[in-house]
Amino acid sequence: MHLSPSENHRWYMSRLQPELHYDGGEVRPWQNRLRRKLRKLVGDVPQERCALGVRRLWRREHPLGMIEKIVYTSEPYADVPAYVCLPKNVEPPYTFFICLQGHSTGMHNSIAVQRDDNTLPHQVAGDRDFGLGCMQRGIAALCIEQRSFGERREQKQKRVAAHGCQDATMQALMLGRTLIGERMYDVDRAIDYLSWRGDARMDQVGVMGNSGGGTLSLFSAALLPRVAMAMPSSYFCTFKDSIMSIGHCVDNYIPGLLKVAEMSDIMGLFAPKPVVLVHGKDDPIFPIAATRRAFRELQRIYAAAGAKDRCHLVVGNEGHRFYADQAWPVMLKEIKRLQD
Ligand SMILES: [Zn+2]
Repeated sequence: MHLSPSENHRWYMSRLQPELHYDGGEVRPWQNRLRRKLRKLVGDVPQERCALGVRRLWRREHPLGMIEKIVYTSEPYADVPAYVCLPKNVEPPYTFFICLQGHSTGMHNSIAVQRDDNTLPHQVAGDRDFGLGCMQRGIAALCIEQRSFGERREQKQKRVAAHGCQDATMQALMLGRTLIGERMYDVDRAIDYLSWRGDARMDQVGVMGNSGGGTLSLFSAALLPRVAMAMPSSYFCTFKDSIMSIGHCVDNYIPGLLKVAEMSDIMGLFAPKPVVLVHGKDDPIFPIAATRRAFRELQRIYAAAGAKDRCHLVVGNEGHRFYADQAWPVMLKEIKRLQD
């Protein structure tokens, strides 16, 4: 007897060839087709951009430069708090990375302070202090809070689901949206904010993040044309071997996506722009063997786009975390190439 629903799904998947999986040929027309389709699958985004209404909450000196906390309005009733990190001894315009935390206590990890009192230090594991990591390397950072995480965790539902993303994810589906689509829109508005600032090099905006932050780095790179560099960590794999085989949070799922494309295809929408994929060899929820397989698929797309040397996989020796000392030198070389 076969009683397990996922057993049936695995059988179904084994016969499924995603409709727009890259199978050779010209990259640009394939990208256009897949991008159009993916835009539909991630759901609706607001038709009109509202005013950002930027407010500054505080600004203070840091040994690595200057940090300010701001908030901008992404769409009505969706405010996005963020830290702006400006490196010491670097003249604007700045190269900026938008930094995204995953399922953690929130964006406060990016600058290693406590969430409820930003004046107090906080110990951060696995190099997740992305904002400080950027500043150390002369890069500016915009560390935003993703929907359902940290300061934007659900607090207004009558009975909040046990899993933090569940209420927002399910409501989004009923509204013809997805949480990934909504979070991506916040990243798009973060780029509007950088443009509004006037001190960012708008041709050198990167996205980076770990786990759920890796997810959004990948989808933002695929669908937001103003993203120039991407460094997704602890996410790149195959859908089949990760979110379809191992329990993951509901915010990972996009209705109908696997009928259309695998993850390598979605990352392939970013070719020929530089991408550094970061992964731990012992990641239990995004297995490295599948990551390597997906990377070979991605290399095929980059090679066909004439940019094989612009996609990189950096493998760290531990689990599900970021590896700053291994990843940044590769990305810094790519940034230098953009500047030459
Ligand atoms: Zn989640």
